[in-house]
Amino acid sequence: MTPADDYTDIRDAVRALCAEFPPEYHRGVDEKRGYPAEFVDALTKAGWLAALIPEEFGGSGLGLTEASVIMEEINRSGGNSGACHGQMYNMGTLLRHGSDEQKKYYLPKIASGELRLQSMGVTEPTTGTDTTKIKTKAERKGDRYVINGQKVWISRIQHSDLMILLARTTPLEEVEKKSRGMSIFIVDLKDAIGNGMEVKPIQNMVNHETNELFFDNLEIPAENLIGEEGMGFKYILDGLNAERALIAAECIGDGHWFIDKVTAYAKERVVFGRPIGQNQGVQFPIAESHIEIEAASLMRFEACRLFDANQPCGAQANMAKYLAAKASWEAANACIQFHGGFGFATEYDVERKFRETRLYQVAPISTNLILSYVAEHVLGLPRSF
Ligand SMILES: Cc1cc2nc3c(=O)[nH]c(=O)nc-3n(C[C@H](O)[C@H](O)[C@H](O)COP(=O)(O)OP(=O)(O)OC[C@H]3O[C@@H](n4cnc5c(N)ncnc54)[C@H](O)[C@@H]3O)c2cc1C
Repeated sequence: MTPADDYTDIRDAVRALCAEFPPEYHRGVDEKRGYPAEFVDALTKAGWLAALIPEEFGGSGLGLTEASVIMEEINRSGGNSGACHGQMYNMGTLLRHGSDEQKKYYLPKIASGELRLQSMGVTEPTTGTDTTKIKTKAERKGDRYVINGQKVWISRIQHSDLMILLARTTPLEEVEKKSRGMSIFIVDLKDAIGNGMEVKPIQNMVNHETNELFFDNLEIPAENLIGEEGMGFKYILDGLNAERALIAAECIGDGHWFIDKVTAYAKERVVFGRPIGQNQGVQFPIAESHIEIEAASLMRFEACRLFDANQPCGAQANMAKYLAAKASWEAANACIQFHGGFGFATEYDVERKFRETRLYQVAPISTNLILSYVAEHVLGLPRSF
């Protein structure tokens, strides 16, 4: 038995909930460029998005392994965790680095869904992946911080109450290490929008709500600083391994969806007097993708196992994300290819899932950056940037 065969209780329960939202539901949301509010509400009410919040704060106190199974099942059902995964893992920053007051105030409300912490503002238009060069700054003025700058690609702002924001509190020229001098803050979006923060939506290939954010003297209370001033970049990095493992799980869910879909179609579609799935030219890419998804899944479980045991898991989390994003993309290609023209018809859902899974080669971290992590941190090759 592999770890993938475990957690049947969680799988069955998440599958049952997801079954109430058939393909027509997700297709309709995608066509309208809408938000799956009912789906996210149902997941929240059932407590699935609070899996990682400890019981003392109203969550279910499960491990990353179980959380990854939840994300996997959402995507395997034909849904897209991208609408709500922020609610699952953004709170980790608060949990690890927030003060007791912040944890007691925010976490129970996040667990119940009263407050949505769906957004994290890191990326900037002029710096991209080179995060230590961010230009958004936060200046302390009495009991407030004043924020000026710009962010790009920030997800789910219109479906979130709170955002974790990374900004420079000490200029880059004045810090000993470039990773120092940045801080993270909780931004109350309702207070901020129109009062120093403007939001400009970015239409994109996926139905994934993203925005440009403009800060012009946005004032936030000093008590909204998370942890110690100047340590924000480290705090963000601390959360990345969990994020990588969960995104890997979503890709694995997508991969299974593509394989299930194309296998069923290849058995029934008859061309030249036989099912197309009888041709090895059709079978092999599907079989290959299946093998790669299963391998990625094992790496995901290894990353989660180490994370849950408080052991270093950077290599495994990054490798799981790399393998899973690649495997789901290969499965997507096989699925669309062997649906022939029908793969492009919206009613088959293949083109939608195809677009959705493509994102994960670029965000939240691009494949190249994972390769450089492994080259440098696992293999000891010289740092390339
Ligand atoms: C739909 C979507 C949602 C997103 N949501 C959020 C969000 O909620 N919050 C947030 O902060 N950000 C978000 N992002 C931003 C995302 O994290 C970045 O797009 C991603 O990290 C890549 O950064 P970039 O776009 O600036 O690319 P760049 O850094 O400009 O890189 C461009 C390309 O060059 C390659 N490259 C760059 N440097 C190197 C190098 N040294 N070696 C080899 N290759 C290199 C990269 O791999 C990449 O393919 C989102 C993006 C998208 C598309």
